[in-house]
Amino acid sequence: MSITEKRPVHIVGGGLAGCEAAWQLARRGSAVVLHEMRPTRSTDAHKTDSLAELVCSNSFRSDDSSNNAVGVLHAEMRRLGSLIMACADSHQIPAGGALAVDREGFAEAVTAAITAHPLITVERGEVAGLPPDEWDSVIVATGPLTSPALAEAIRARADEQALAFFDAIAPIIHFDSIDMDVCWFQSRYDKMGPGGTGADYINCPMDKEQYEAFVAALVASDTVPFREFEANTPYFDGCLPIEVMAARGPETLRHGPMKPMGLTNAHNPTVKAYAVVQLRQDNALGTLYNMVGFQTKTRHSEQVRLFRMIPGLEKAEFARLGGLHRNTYLNSPRLLDASLRLKALPRLRFAGQITGCEGYVESSAMGLMAGLFAAAEQRGEAPALPPPTTAHGALLNHITGGHIETVEAGPRSFQPMNINFGLFPPLDANPTRDTEGNRLRGAQKTVAKKQVLAARALADLDAWAKANADEPNEAAA
Ligand SMILES: Cc1cc2nc3c(=O)[nH]c(=O)nc-3n(C[C@H](O)[C@H](O)[C@H](O)COP(=O)(O)OP(=O)(O)OC[C@H]3O[C@@H](n4cnc5c(N)ncnc54)[C@H](O)[C@@H]3O)c2cc1C
Repeated sequence: MSITEKRPVHIVGGGLAGCEAAWQLARRGSAVVLHEMRPTRSTDAHKTDSLAELVCSNSFRSDDSSNNAVGVLHAEMRRLGSLIMACADSHQIPAGGALAVDREGFAEAVTAAITAHPLITVERGEVAGLPPDEWDSVIVATGPLTSPALAEAIRARADEQALAFFDAIAPIIHFDSIDMDVCWFQSRYDKMGPGGTGADYINCPMDKEQYEAFVAALVASDTVPFREFEANTPYFDGCLPIEVMAARGPETLRHGPMKPMGLTNAHNPTVKAYAVVQLRQDNALGTLYNMVGFQTKTRHSEQVRLFRMIPGLEKAEFARLGGLHRNTYLNSPRLLDASLRLKALPRLRFAGQITGCEGYVESSAMGLMAGLFAAAEQRGEAPALPPPTTAHGALLNHITGGHIETVEAGPRSFQPMNINFGLFPPLDANPTRDTEGNRLRGAQKTVAKKQVLAARALADLDAWAKANADEPNEAAA
């Protein structure tokens, strides 16, 4: 059967990911039906009936492909013929080193390209349950505000823990920015646990004075208010932000996430810490550590200042800062296979923010991947996965398995993630000299490392794209 005689791929959700996936499929000759519920039914954040509406900021963040991980993702997407990047580029507005767009022009351009494509049919209406059995290849790209009926159907088909409806994000720190002359590895009471070593956590000790100053700063910190549709959520009771715990009384944190029991400072064993902040390994590569129990709604600018007050974290570099938002996303490391298919029902593939990535660019990139994978299957081929050294591969790998789930963190320790260099496999050797042979110092080493990671990503992406060239039948818009 030729590819055009095959049944169409159904894509649910005409947001950034759904449109990118549709475009990649159609470019490769596959017929697509794109189901978008707006304007029949809207979400709490969308305002228009355009496809690919940007619901908040108009920025795609840094466009620097030499020094910034999201800039690398931009560059890779452009090389893979991304519709979202092509429309963003053609509707760019001045924003320094960032790629910002005229939001209406951008959404209109995506809508026009999708609706004009002869292989894409757009159907307006909610998919209010599991897609029917006769849709044998489906991409679900319904985003952070997936309609409740579909979300419930997915949860029922996968398992109780399949979907979260709020994220509770604790900050994540690059391991190599933690001062291990101050901190030490140890699990509480040296417990081994399943798969543990007895020394799985990084511990940051505080004396009484440091603790009291930290709690006072937390209580005084400025927080981001909930949006109207996020207020009064039951989630909020179940997982309190650290600053709310701090406001309940000076001792609350010392009896909660900062309790010092069962921990002995390896650098100073005779002095008992008054409080301890624990960091837990977040990814299999061991490059990222999350702050245990530190989900927070303090403003991002405040978080850096506050958390650098913690001994050992004075120079911490954050891969992700904390937050709490309304967000529908899968427990992907458990539920999805390496090419984003639901293990329990492989005719359903997921894309975009619902997979547990975060942000416009990452969601579009995961739409691009889902489109390529579904297109390969339409041709009767196995999907080719991008190398983990590329930005696409690093993000995909994190979503589908790179995150480490720990027993203590419960079955839902996976939290949404932006692309960042901590997700990339480390270099065999970090650069120590610049191109002229001069020895690198301090921050120069970090800059040089990022540049080598970025260059490696783009070189590997090019090699992968070349090896898997499937000769799209038209160029990107
Ligand atoms: C309030 C809010 C503010 C945000 N601010 C930012 C920001 O400033 N910067 C940033 O980078 N990211 C931001 N995000 C995240 C950003 O919205 C997402 O990363 C991105 O839009 C996700 O793309 P997507 O294609 O996965 O989902 P979306 O772009 O949300 O697209 C999903 C589409 O699916 C449709 N849909 C849902 N359910 C159904 C159904 N059952 N049947 C048919 N269609 C359905 C929706 O109408 C929507 O068009 C924000 C998110 C929210 C909720």
